[in-house]
Amino acid sequence: MSLSYEMENSGAWQTYLAQINRVAPYLEEDLIPFINTLKRPKRALIVDVPIVMDDGSIQHFEGYRVQHNLSRGPGKGGIRYHPDVELNEVMALSAWMTIKTAVLNLPYGGAKGGIRVDPRKLSPRELERLTRRFTTEISPIIGPQIDIPAPDVGTNADIMGWMMDTYSTIKGHTVTGVVTGKPVHLGGSLGRVRATGRGVFVTGLEVAKKINLTLEGSRIAVQGFGNVGSEAAYLFHKANAKVVCVQDHTGTIFNADGFDVKQLQDYVAIHKGVAGFPDATLIEDEAFWTVEMDILIPAALEGQITPERAQKLTAKLVLEGANGPTYPEAEDILLQRQIMIVPDVLCNAGGVTVSYFEWVQDMASYFWTEEEINERLDKLMIKAVEDVWHTADDKDCSLRTAAYILACERILKARKERGIFPG
Ligand code: GLU
Repeated sequence: MSLSYEMENSGAWQTYLAQINRVAPYLEEDLIPFINTLKRPKRALIVDVPIVMDDGSIQHFEGYRVQHNLSRGPGKGGIRYHPDVELNEVMALSAWMTIKTAVLNLPYGGAKGGIRVDPRKLSPRELERLTRRFTTEISPIIGPQIDIPAPDVGTNADIMGWMMDTYSTIKGHTVTGVVTGKPVHLGGSLGRVRATGRGVFVTGLEVAKKINLTLEGSRIAVQGFGNVGSEAAYLFHKANAKVVCVQDHTGTIFNADGFDVKQLQDYVAIHKGVAGFPDATLIEDEAFWTVEMDILIPAALEGQITPERAQKLTAKLVLEGANGPTYPEAEDILLQRQIMIVPDVLCNAGGVTVSYFEWVQDMASYFWTEEEINERLDKLMIKAVEDVWHTADDKDCSLRTAAYILACERILKARKERGIFPG
């Protein structure tokens, strides 16, 4: 592995760099000298995380926390536990957080962390020891005013609770605002768990209206049935759309009449995957991409929509619940084919938006009702869709480029106004 960011020119980071290069021609001239600020992370920490396993042996894991940009406020972004986590990926994910918080105009920069580990292979006690040791190792660069982690793929509220407790133990007093996505009785926010899926639905609904796509009876395919995919699928199902195909790590299930998503959620809670769900045909994984559908929701990992898959897709609308699911070359094909993409930095921003609400509530020690949270979330998401849509109209560009124009202008104006130290 190379230790120079400039050498890290592959994988998800490459996708991000291509997106930045696409937005550059649209930016105001006085901001261009600052654009390189976005092409490298501000700070990256690689940590060794040794833990004692239940059998008494010692295992070492590699962990990361990358702060991509802090021009507009403290770092913000999740912690991923996955066997494929590496520096290049965490760099890209941190950069997408910089863009995402700016699209929603949240007062944050972007950061991301992770550990290369398969959390399914650890016992609950091993998972807790891993989390506590990792938190200790990254504790010099996190804090409520510095950088605020949250859940991502492979992590959840329990893990955030352990992170908060470990950080608080180091500080000698309870610091709830150091992480978001915590259990509700530990300073967590109502509505946080469902917020990302809700945001996918709300942004999807707004854009569907704009392209005259009726939800009722429309066919939806969802990749990933975790926190994001299952909630988005549930809300579309409740809005009378038909969720016809779902893929997760256990397989791909299909039913042309649509699933009862509540029953599927209950099934997955017990069986840990969609495979074997009654009332469904198990199909080949690759067949997922050619199923007849109106809306595709990639809600798993990055790099899923390849040029080859983009050629075959029948969807009219792609809602990026995952971060970075579409390769730039695949995006070109989708756009040529008049397939609308609601980009990740807008579509899945519901999670970080309610994380922001959680942090504000922790700071004020005053907690809102779930209705207040959902109402404020919907309002911010709808406003962001409007802003992005009008920018796209105005500049005659894709929704992704429009979102990047709005975000990069906010970030680079902040960078310019702060000036380059020591001047
Ligand atoms: N991991 C989520 C994301 O990719 C949420 C981050 C947060 O709440 O800070 O947006």
